[in-house]
Amino acid sequence: MAYPHAGRHYPRSLGEFQAWFRKDADCLDYLEWLRWPTGFACPACGQEGWRLGDGRFMCSGCGGRTSVTAGTIFDRTRTPLTVWFSACWLFATGKDGISALSLKRTLEIGSYQTAWAMLHRLRSVLVRPGRERLAGVVEVDETFIGGLEEGLAGGRARGKKVLTGIAVELREPRGFGRCRMLPLADASAASLHPFVSDHVEPGARVITDGWQGYRGLEKLGYVHDRRSQRAAQARDEDADDLLPGAHRIASLAKRWLLGTHQGSVDEAHIANYLHEFVFRFNRRFSRSRGMLFYRVLELAMAHGPVRYQDLIATRRPRTVPPRPPRTRGCPPSLERPAANRPWRASSG
Ligand SMILES: [Zn+2]
Repeated sequence: MAYPHAGRHYPRSLGEFQAWFRKDADCLDYLEWLRWPTGFACPACGQEGWRLGDGRFMCSGCGGRTSVTAGTIFDRTRTPLTVWFSACWLFATGKDGISALSLKRTLEIGSYQTAWAMLHRLRSVLVRPGRERLAGVVEVDETFIGGLEEGLAGGRARGKKVLTGIAVELREPRGFGRCRMLPLADASAASLHPFVSDHVEPGARVITDGWQGYRGLEKLGYVHDRRSQRAAQARDEDADDLLPGAHRIASLAKRWLLGTHQGSVDEAHIANYLHEFVFRFNRRFSRSRGMLFYRVLELAMAHGPVRYQDLIATRRPRTVPPRPPRTRGCPPSLERPAANRPWRASSG
């Protein structure tokens, strides 16, 4: 939906969120509406169909059966949807997001791995396919990001810092537009040129430092503004801050990783954390946090399943492999029956 409305398509407040999504069935219906706003359409052939007794849908064209969550990141989840929705609300409405440890504690999710995997699933949907490239005046730089991650099996594993590309739009007379951040294999032209062409619209003015890896950007269709330290020194300018925009983004990202996640970020998952940082930064002026909740769920329903094995598959080999989430016992639903004012049930 291009222009969802507050109070109708997404909750305006925590109070509305709680009133709308009291039961797992309410959440499932919301997901159904997000996926098929005008009624069921078969994912295989596009035909209409009808609802079966077990809540799934059957296609009138090909006879295929499917559920609302099939083929999305909620596919075959054992975590109740009320828990998913609360996690998504905290993730989307918290200005700086939420760490796996806080999520585990807040929602009383039994295992750290489950909370960790939920957040990584949410992060992994944030990059919209075919999103626009940056335009106008764009600073591009690289920096090292990363640190320690709380090991899934307990204990801390020392992670390597990861070379990360940064691109940020500069606004006149000051301020920033959107940004992009992504891990780079190295600082060679073979890595930097694709980073620029993937994230910056040709014709933009690209400002970089004098590093040789950026040579040749003109041939890719950019107006290349190379700032060398020597030239800056000759002009008596601050040679240490040739790219104040990129440096600002880098320091915000590092501060966020240290703050919300206490630096416990594994190099294998840096890309996912950077997706989240970029998503938050690019929506920093968004008036409605409920709208972000809607956008995250919308992206989640449009995204294919993300298996736990896929989340951990990118890790370096470890001496102690992380335990899979407990196969028995999933988080309890957050559905709550009326408690009938226990403080009045006086025992004298
Ligand atoms: Zn069909």
